[in-house]
Parts: sequence; C-alpha cells; structure tokens
Amino acid sequence: MTTVGKQERSVAINPTRACAPIGAMLATYGIHGALTINHGSQGCATYPRHQMTRHFREPVEIATTSLTEKTTVYGGRENLLEALKNIYERYHPTMITVCSTCLSETIGDDIPAIIDEFRTTYADAEDFPMLSVHTPSYVGTHITGFDNFLDELARAFPEKRRGSRVRQNNGKVNLIPGWVNPGDLRELKYILKEMAIESIILTDYADTLDGGYYDPKPHFPKGGTTMAQIRESGSSMATVALQKHIGGRAARTYETRYHVPAYVLPMPIGLANTDKFLETLSDVTGNPISEELEMERARLLDAFVDTHMFNSGLKVGIYGDPDLVEGLTRFVAEMGMEPKVAITATESEAWGKDMKALCDELGLNMNILTRSDLHEMHKLVKKYGIDLIIGHSKGKFIADAEKIPLIRVGFPIEDRFGYHRRSIVGYKGALYLLDEITNAVLSRRGSVVSNTVMDKSFEVAKTAILPAFSKNGHSIDVIQN
Ligand code: SF4
Repeated sequence: MTTVGKQERSVAINPTRACAPIGAMLATYGIHGALTINHGSQGCATYPRHQMTRHFREPVEIATTSLTEKTTVYGGRENLLEALKNIYERYHPTMITVCSTCLSETIGDDIPAIIDEFRTTYADAEDFPMLSVHTPSYVGTHITGFDNFLDELARAFPEKRRGSRVRQNNGKVNLIPGWVNPGDLRELKYILKEMAIESIILTDYADTLDGGYYDPKPHFPKGGTTMAQIRESGSSMATVALQKHIGGRAARTYETRYHVPAYVLPMPIGLANTDKFLETLSDVTGNPISEELEMERARLLDAFVDTHMFNSGLKVGIYGDPDLVEGLTRFVAEMGMEPKVAITATESEAWGKDMKALCDELGLNMNILTRSDLHEMHKLVKKYGIDLIIGHSKGKFIADAEKIPLIRVGFPIEDRFGYHRRSIVGYKGALYLLDEITNAVLSRRGSVVSNTVMDKSFEVAKTAILPAFSKNGHSIDVIQN
C-alpha cells in the first residue's frame, strides 16, 4: 500500500535542498545582461555561488549588500541603495533582481520601498526593470525562490495591450522549463525547432551557464532570454510550464493578467510525459510532431524492450525536487522497475496527492515523504533493500554505504564532470537515462549471457559448478571479470 507522509523530525540531517535565493539567482542568469543583488550577509551570496560554480563549472557573479552586525540592528536600507547605485552605474545591466535572505526578511527591510526610493533618486532609472523577490530560506527551498521569481517576473514585465478588445497573438509559445540543466534547455529548444514552434523561454540559461571561452571576455555571458522577449511574452499564444512547483503559478498569472492560456504539465521525463508535452505543443500550435521525434520515440520503445530483462523488478529510491521525482518515478516504472521510496525536501500536499494518484494509476506501492532529508532516505533504503538510488551528488554516502549504484540526476552534481550538459528530458533524454541506469545495473551484476543475467555468477561458479566439475575429474578455472 502506498503511504504519503511528512517527516516528523523538525531538524534536517543531510538536507536534500538548497536555500531559497539560489532559485532566484539561477532564474536571473537566464536573462541576458541581468544581475542579482543578494540583500543579506556575504555568506548568503557565497554559498549559492559556490554551489552553482561547482555544478555548472562556470564563474558565477552575484552582488551582495554585505549586511553586518550594525546593519542587522539599524536596517540595510543604505547598503541596498549603495549596491543598486554601484551595479546600475558600473555594470549597466539590462535588469536587476534583488532577492531577500533570512537576515533581511527577519529584520524587516522593505525592499520594494527601497527600490522605489532608488528610482526617485535616479531620474534615468525610473523605468529601469528591477524585481524584488522574497526568498527567505526558512519559508521554502530553492524551488520557492525560483517559483517566486517567475511569478514576480510575470506580474512586472510583460506588456499589457491596452485599448484593444482582441488579444494580441505573436504566434509564440512561452515555455517555462523550471529547474533543469543547460543540456535540458538545449533539448527542449531542439524539440520546439523540430516542431517549427517559435518560443520565449522563461528563462534560458543554456548558454549563460554553459558558455564558451571568448577573448576578449564579453561584458555579460552570451545568450539568455532578452528583456524585449519578456515584454512580448504577454502576447504569446500559450504558456507551457513543465514543473508544477516551478512556473505553474507564473503560467496561471499569464492566464489571468494577459489572457494567455496556461498548460501546466508533468516534467517531460520518459515516454508518457514526453508524449503529453509534444501533444500539448501540437494541440496549441496546430503544428505536427516531426518524423525525427517519432523515430526517437520508437527508439525509446525499442530500448524498453531490449533492457526489461535486466531492470525488471529492481527496487528504486528517488530523491530531489518534487517535479523531478514525480517524472522519474513514472519513468522507472515504464522501464519495469519498482519505485519504492520517493523523498523531497519541499513541503507540498499537492505533490503528495499527485504521487499517490500516480501510484494508484500504475499499481505501485511506495513510501512517499515530503519535507524530508537524506538521513530518512538512508533508513528507507535499508528497510526496503533498495537496489539503486536516483538523485543528486549529496546521496553518494548512501550509495557507498549500501554498495548500490547512484544515478546522478538533479542539482547539485559536484562529484562528476559535465552532467549539466546532459539532458534527461524528451525521448533522447529518456534514452540517455535508460542507458545510464541499465549499465549501472549490469556493472553490479555478475555477467550477461545471451540477454540472461547470471546473478552472482562468480560465487555460483565457485560453490556449485566448480566442485561438480572437479568431482568428475575435469579441470576448470573460474575467472572473475
Ligand atoms: S542565511 Fe538563509 S539565505 Fe543566507 S545562506 Fe543561509 S539559508 Fe541561505
């Protein structure tokens, strides 16, 4: 029977989450020429930069208001005004995000009012795009920070067409991918191109966080969604959000404020979820699914058939961001595996209900926990005898202790190189994941002869086959590969 619960222990041990400002910082990186000011202590900028740099292998620039003991007592207004002035005058960004932190939220700095004060002081900054995003980490996680940013962006920047009863339609689709990798963004853009769909990606950090080496170094990283595109996004034909917890709310804001229809889908991981994504795009635009995409789908189906004998029935534990975990759960079930444990740090009743519905639909029996951590995950891995875990690098100690494979997916991946360039979305992403999982399974099993897994072949050969041969006077050597 599937159970959905919330971790009772209030302290997190080995958390599977990052702090809220990092979500707003990552999203800001997806806008060309935009910069983030982190209104808090220096550590609140250093920690996210450190995490992002280790994952994306790129230098990450975040400004900070460097609050100290004095500003903690008297407020950080002056520091923020100074920071806005410095960034505006020296860097000439296209847009500034000011994200709060645990500290600035606790002392109660009114960031929107300070931004307004800056506007009145600098006449030419009157219309300059600036966003205030609430990101106290004691309220949510990196998911909340990203989602809050997108909702603020959807409220602030798209242009409303006034004086016309007929809604303008620029023929484009707003795509909100949520927290994904640059490799995923490239795959999504490839799918849109295959279907001849023009899009506005909210937001696109494919190149800004996975750029090249240029001499001279450009003032801002190449790529990213432009402010002109964001202004235009209120006239798009639809908004498609691919993560309910990141961007679902913004998609609905586009619908209520600009009458752009919202489609909030599950993350397109695996066969059924990718089908749903492509069918939605096709329904919205009227464009057909290309032959190349149909061929990729057929290849994925073929791979399911080719690998089912290796993976069927293996018990899987999955942890990480809620939409990612939900997508992966369906995918491993499609592969014939048995998802047994699912954990997220996000506290979300809706996610628990969606996961329960998924288990009922697929006939799965799972232990599902929200607001949970990797300490709990480890206990459940032991309890159920999990064969394989899927999640980010922080779960490595579980894999090492239990001697089971860890399939690295999510954020952060800091103990391997190049994972940010890989894609797990779409049919091609599913094929990559399937290969990765199957090869990890095969490398832990004995050997494979004519598609038959010979479990623990070495031990079996030593204890059963070898004595039988020796008794009959034959000589045989057993070599372990
Ligand atoms: S104090 Fe809060 S915002 Fe700053 S790094 Fe820690 S969790 Fe993040």
